[in-house]
Amino acid sequence: MQPPRFGRQAKPRKPWERPPRQPDRRKRGRAGQRERAQVLAEEPLCRKCLERGLEVATDEVDHIVPLSEGGTDTRDNKQGLCKPCHDAKSAAERAAARRSRPDLL
Ligand SMILES: [Zn+2]
Repeated sequence: MQPPRFGRQAKPRKPWERPPRQPDRRKRGRAGQRERAQVLAEEPLCRKCLERGLEVATDEVDHIVPLSEGGTDTRDNKQGLCKPCHDAKSAAERAAARRSRPDLL
């Protein structure tokens, strides 16, 4: 007898089937690198810190609406954040996702 299994089950894939497409539409490779450099150049200071009157250098490029929430991988959905702000935003997004979709996490 099998123990009960919870959460989303991956359908077993036949060897001749293509692997599932990546769920996010993140640009990878050179296109992604170029856009990242562009955001860093345009937003050298962390947006969230600027809102609080602080000038902190941007460390990371953030998706304003996360890709997992249907956000796009385009310039208008990207912002420069310092690492502490990015970490805090990511943690909040994970917590929100867990609350709304406990089956997926
Ligand atoms: Zn910041």
